Amino acid sequence: MSEKLLDVTNLHVSYGAIKAIKGISLHVNRGEVVTILGANGAGKTTTLRTLSGLLKPVEGSIVFDGNDITKTPPHEIVSLGMSHSPEGRRVFGTLSVEENLMMGAFSLKKYDQATLDWIYEILPRLKERTQQLAGTLSGGEQQMLAIGRAIMSKPKLLILDEPSLGLAPVLVKVIFKAIREIAKSGVTVLLVEQNARAALKLADRGYVLELGKISHEDTSEALLGSQAIQEAYLGKK
Ligand code: ATP
Repeated sequence: MSEKLLDVTNLHVSYGAIKAIKGISLHVNRGEVVTILGANGAGKTTTLRTLSGLLKPVEGSIVFDGNDITKTPPHEIVSLGMSHSPEGRRVFGTLSVEENLMMGAFSLKKYDQATLDWIYEILPRLKERTQQLAGTLSGGEQQMLAIGRAIMSKPKLLILDEPSLGLAPVLVKVIFKAIREIAKSGVTVLLVEQNARAALKLADRGYVLELGKISHEDTSEALLGSQAIQEAYLGKK
């Protein structure tokens, strides 16, 4: 079994004539938390959507858990063990919290009570609201639900796109604590975040994306200590 759970080589992705991703290579080892940082429009969401099969690259390869998934449809990628919690949450508004969580597992026949109980343990706000319609949850609660739903399928790799976007600092802390717990349980995590400092504190390694190319890659510690990264992405402490 390869140490690399995800191995991306020379990925190119275009929207018609617009080249959004221009030859990136990256990997995520089993058990790691890896973050992708970058300014608006750098190509972070495009990268994640390509990994989970929603966009197809014009060039390059994606290997996940030993399988070449470059041309694999999204539902098959999910069943191989990759779960993607998209930017903008996208919960099922007319279903209850608990029904949303179950949706994360049923199609894969992976539902189990222990996982549901564990989600309620790490995201207690959801437990207080099991019967509430998801559409009436606050933005932060919907984000928690989207993460919980992604975990219900017991993924090998959890992909999170901007989990803290638009949330108040106190909720950002709750979300990051939950991600830490998820990682501690053995799930490998690939995280895209605007909140670069918090993401690097959580992650083992990071990649910086600039205009569709990787400009830096290093351990989180080295990136946090780099003057160029501090000036461009971390601002003042
Ligand atoms: P943000 O942090 O703002 O979400 P991002 O790093 O996730 O940014 P992407 O959304 O991946 O960036 O966008 C990368 C580039 O691709 C941008 O120039 C964007 O305008 C372009 N792009 C994204 N989606 C489309 C689309 N559907 N059609 C055309 N161009 C697109």
